[in-house]
Amino acid sequence: MMDKQQAITAILARIQQTAEQTSRNPADIQLVAVSKRKPVTDIIAAYEAGLRHFGENYTEELAEKAEALKHLSDLEWHFIGHLQSRQTKAVAQYAHYFHALDRLKVAQRLSAQLSELGRELPVFLQVNVSGEESKSGFDGVNWRQQPEKLETLCTAIQEIIELPGLRVIGLMTMAPFDADTAGLHAVFKDLADLATHLQQKISVLPQLKLSMGMSGDFDIAIAEGATHVRIGSAIFGERS
Ligand SMILES: *Cc1c(COP(=O)(O)O)cnc(C)c1O
Repeated sequence: MMDKQQAITAILARIQQTAEQTSRNPADIQLVAVSKRKPVTDIIAAYEAGLRHFGENYTEELAEKAEALKHLSDLEWHFIGHLQSRQTKAVAQYAHYFHALDRLKVAQRLSAQLSELGRELPVFLQVNVSGEESKSGFDGVNWRQQPEKLETLCTAIQEIIELPGLRVIGLMTMAPFDADTAGLHAVFKDLADLATHLQQKISVLPQLKLSMGMSGDFDIAIAEGATHVRIGSAIFGERS
């Protein structure tokens, strides 16, 4: 069993190598270490190994860990999990990034709470481009053939952009569990193309970032343009 330092060094080397092989700039790819269901001591070990960006999926865990580690002032929390509109408080309070914005109602709640707290939150809109039913997100299946889906997405983005406190910085997706290599390439490319398309339609959008790729498929996501890879088990080991 590799220790954490070795696992992290190996992942960073793989990110660097994949970037170079696919003509990407390694500096454009942010590793988000997904520490969900792992103890605070694991996060401290990863922090000591040089990591600063950590991903959490559950609001209670985010709040507990952020409180426990608030002395590490340059640590940045990425909330990557599905969020119910009644659970937004911890994200508004503690998250530095939110990767899974998938409903206007959640955006409105977050915006109100962020304004109260005087905080700003960069967000990724989660889009389901694969059509796998277990995946949440805005519906982006076959967006090229179905312009009404694109319209719905554009309207949602325009409404979210108007909300104080929220800053739309990118799109996020999750690949289906059973996809093969070609299928993974297709899903990630689809999200990258969608981002390009949305930027052309909504001129106020910044260059959209792409949160895609996990332990099993981050090489493919990088090849297709990922700017944020969310890696858990390859760093922290399997979750119980
Ligand atoms: C758990 C999780 C990850 C990390 O998964 P690994 O396979 O452990 O790398 C990434 N993204 C999301 C949204 C997750 O829930």
